[in-house]
Amino acid sequence: MGKINSINRRKFLEIFGSCSCGIALVACGTAPITERRQLKLIPEVTLNNQAAQIYKKVKRKTKLSDDKKQLDEIKEIGSKIENAVSSYFDSINQPDPTYNFHWEYILVDNDKVKNAWCMPGGKIAVYTGILKITKNKHGLAAVMGHEIAHAVAKHSVERASRALVLNVGTAALDIFTGGAISNTSRTTGVDVARMLRTFGIDNPFGRKQEAEADYLGLIFSSLAGYDIRESVKIWERMKESNKGQEIPEWQSTHPSSSKRIANLNKWIPEIILKYPPIK
Ligand SMILES: [Zn+2]
Repeated sequence: MGKINSINRRKFLEIFGSCSCGIALVACGTAPITERRQLKLIPEVTLNNQAAQIYKKVKRKTKLSDDKKQLDEIKEIGSKIENAVSSYFDSINQPDPTYNFHWEYILVDNDKVKNAWCMPGGKIAVYTGILKITKNKHGLAAVMGHEIAHAVAKHSVERASRALVLNVGTAALDIFTGGAISNTSRTTGVDVARMLRTFGIDNPFGRKQEAEADYLGLIFSSLAGYDIRESVKIWERMKESNKGQEIPEWQSTHPSSSKRIANLNKWIPEIILKYPPIK
């Protein structure tokens, strides 16, 4: 809770009354591996359930690719990363943050969107547009590792909790009460983009969360047996593909910078040594 200033703390106390000590203890967790302190007010199970429902709608309302070979590759990478994450936490005698995940993968047929995401609880989407950037399985593993890391580190729980405290808009309450879903089902068309936004999937995570997802993503991809040096090449290809164009979705949700590439280069040698492929 170090980030919460006094005004927000007052807001926090207004919401939760005098039992702030107890709440504060319950509400603060730490991210796995990095041990960064996190605010967690909204139960993870609530977010996971909502995510699963939205994911169902995404599957119904978006055009999915019929490229079975490509989808199989995505599933294979995903399952290797799933196993790597679980085995790793077992090996260090810590609870597996994905024990309650129900992993699922889709390939969305949209060449214009250079993006991928992983909803809380392990619901993953890859857009065909990102495949031109990832180019090979190592590149795809780097992107998927990053997205999965957001879910493993429970960044959505953290973001929704912070939104609740800061009282910014109704997005978090919407998620908490199921409003996002009930509202959309009342209208004739289901606006998938709006749902994803409400849920926070298409918004940028904070700078610290992005860096954390980069770091953890490298660890998970390395544990899963992929060549994590490809991650730097992806960001270079991304920069190249963005030249003279509008800022595409991927870049707006995942702010690219030389700092990011510098960080990856700094972390990669250490992570390769410290987190070799899990047998
Ligand atoms: Zn990210």
